[in-house]
Amino acid sequence: MDEPYCETPGPAPAGEQPAGDGPFAECVLCRAPTEYPESVKGSTLCPVCEWQEAQRTACSG
Ligand SMILES: [Zn+2]
Repeated sequence: MDEPYCETPGPAPAGEQPAGDGPFAECVLCRAPTEYPESVKGSTLCPVCEWQEAQRTACSG
């Protein structure tokens, strides 16, 4: 009886997962992977470019 007490952390329990595991659409501006699946229609922006676009549109009224 010399089992170690600590349990080995297994893989994360299936349940809440991020939006999916790809493939993700590329950002149309910098080609970084976005949070959106490739099936999304239209231009997809990564969080950074999305934020920058938001700033621009906010300024250009
Ligand atoms: Zn981008």
